[in-house]
Amino acid sequence: MPGFTPGRRWQPAYYPFHNDSIMERFLAAVERTSKGLLFGCRMCGNCMLQETAFICSMECPKGLRNGPCGGSTPEHCYVDESRPCIWYKIYERAEKLGTTHKLLEVLPPLDWDKVGTEIWKDVLNHWNEVGGLDATWRALKAAPEERDRAWEQFFYEIRQPDWWQGDAKAHLPPQPHEPVSHLESLLVAGQFAVTAEIAPPLAAAPDDVIKKVNLLKPFVDAVNFTDNPSATPRMSSLACSLLALQNGLEPVMQIAARDRTRMGVQAEVLGASALGIRNILCLTGDHPRLGPPPHGRMDVWDIDSIQMVWILRRMRDDCHFLDERELKCGPSLFIGAAGSPYASTDRFQALREEKKVNAGAQFLQTNLVYDLDRFEAYLAELDKRGVLARTSVMAGITPVRSVKAAHAMNEVPGVTIPPALIKRLENASDPKEEGLQITLEIIERVKRLPGVKGIHFMAVGWESIVPRLVTEAGLQRPSA
Ligand code: SF4
Repeated sequence: MPGFTPGRRWQPAYYPFHNDSIMERFLAAVERTSKGLLFGCRMCGNCMLQETAFICSMECPKGLRNGPCGGSTPEHCYVDESRPCIWYKIYERAEKLGTTHKLLEVLPPLDWDKVGTEIWKDVLNHWNEVGGLDATWRALKAAPEERDRAWEQFFYEIRQPDWWQGDAKAHLPPQPHEPVSHLESLLVAGQFAVTAEIAPPLAAAPDDVIKKVNLLKPFVDAVNFTDNPSATPRMSSLACSLLALQNGLEPVMQIAARDRTRMGVQAEVLGASALGIRNILCLTGDHPRLGPPPHGRMDVWDIDSIQMVWILRRMRDDCHFLDERELKCGPSLFIGAAGSPYASTDRFQALREEKKVNAGAQFLQTNLVYDLDRFEAYLAELDKRGVLARTSVMAGITPVRSVKAAHAMNEVPGVTIPPALIKRLENASDPKEEGLQITLEIIERVKRLPGVKGIHFMAVGWESIVPRLVTEAGLQRPSA
């Protein structure tokens, strides 16, 4: 176990072959031993320890470089419960060190060429580039604030390559900006919006998707299609989104970073935009360990959801690919991300949501809301960080059909059903009907909370209940 970090090390990262000199190999061995012992360093070759409170985040089984996933808890990592969530530890230590502001900088995905190599050569080369001894001497003689700024800038330039240039600033769509989708126009105009999720079928036939689209059409403003939820293959979200468009209902295409490389994401979004799909929800995705075996590589994650948001926004607003090539025609996108009210703590999640919104997320659809007190606390934290003023939050609502379903739901990472609600279901003569009444009560309270701009139904295979919920909750669409 590393001396200063709390978890044990995960599997080794992929190391591409390098024809390194003896000196480079020697330095790499020294770095691996010293930083490994101190910080849990996994030799990603793209060091960002300064930003992560000196704990190597590459211990995370998802390889996340921008904060905790929606399944993180103070107790443990949801992928491997025998160890802590390394991102929780990073946030905790950053709070103690007073460096949480550093966690807002959007950090780049790995330059895989560098994985396994030592970082000192980069530091030395950059030191020479910026003036070597002369520059160091000047910085030492400068005022303390100037010296700190020069120090930060020096390492910023090393960890943020030209092709990324991530920062902690808020990036809004260029002004003037015409909404690109019906959902965007509603949310921007401050009208309460309703979306619902359809789980794509476990089949190649389109009938089921079309039937559900036609069922939901009069009751929702847009329909989400999940992307291999629970790491289980289904019909692609792109294909389902196109079927929805062809049948007159606007889609929200979900993309899980888990199943894509940076190249695949860019290609898929260009294709989606060309087909008329405008709303994209960027997710990191469940870990493959949640899916059925046999498992493929579980240790290689190319990008995370925040990096995906950053890439898509720049494709849209700056018209260039990640590799800086110019895009002749950028995609038209309304970019969204997930909100996780019940992961880690309100404070930490609010920080992570702020980072998503700064990177370019224009709307957040949250995980399932049952515990209203915690949801309110989460919204209050978002408000404190100015997130509510810059994005539209849609609360995730899932009706519970039975006591068994409630217990199963409680096992889902990032979902919490208060014991009092489970008790109500257990004592009810008709738990299904009781579950619907509970759902209506939650909607009634949620829709009045400041900052909530819409409801997002996730009926998990029970899409047929959405029309009743919309009607009884008084959420009918004006066009219906
Ligand atoms: S809970 Fe999520 S963020 Fe935390 S270590 Fe596990 S996979 Fe990574």
